[in-house]
Amino acid sequence: MKALEEKIIADGIALGTEVVKVDSFLNHQIDVAFMRAMGQEFARLFAADGVTRILTMESSGIAIAYAAAEAMNDLPVVFAKKSRTNTMDTETYAASVKSFTHGTTSVAKVAKKFISPDDVVLIIDDFLAHGEAAAAMTSIVRQAGAKLAGIGVVIEKRFQGGGDKLREEGVHLEALASIAKIEDGKITFC
Ligand code: 5GP
Repeated sequence: MKALEEKIIADGIALGTEVVKVDSFLNHQIDVAFMRAMGQEFARLFAADGVTRILTMESSGIAIAYAAAEAMNDLPVVFAKKSRTNTMDTETYAASVKSFTHGTTSVAKVAKKFISPDDVVLIIDDFLAHGEAAAAMTSIVRQAGAKLAGIGVVIEKRFQGGGDKLREEGVHLEALASIAKIEDGKITFC
């Protein structure tokens, strides 16, 4: 998505050679119109997949998942919860996930009642790096006995390998922008 690449160049900040900060439109402040456009792009890319439900991870995936769901005729959005809450259902699917940005490992949980074996699930997230979050969500879809339609991410950092692993597994993966490298503060797209 050309407009996204331009936005990353204009507003994104490269932190070292590994991390991109896009706080101004995706991760801290939300550019609603731009989010809507990206949601519509995901709807176009996965139009043929018969998606019934979107799965994402709290918290940074929720906004883009909502935008995609709205563009796909208001599909339900389920987000895996990483924080411990007293109100969480006890009947859950769970998968451990190592956080790229925090360096911690947590357990992502989804209440069983929110994904059924009849579902065709599209996983949506903001970033794809080493693929930990995607693997945890894929595991949850598998545990539910549902069908995985594919994975859509706003930004793939291709050099971190998570995306290529998923492609090798035959997963339908779509990234709206794909970064080849980050060097001296400069972001280069694939
Ligand atoms: P992975 O699990 O694929 O290694 O990392 C993906 C998750 O880590 C995403 O859900 C995202 O929240 C976070 N993440 C990975 N790389 C970046 C990055 O460069 N910038 C930001 N803001 N988040 C990232």
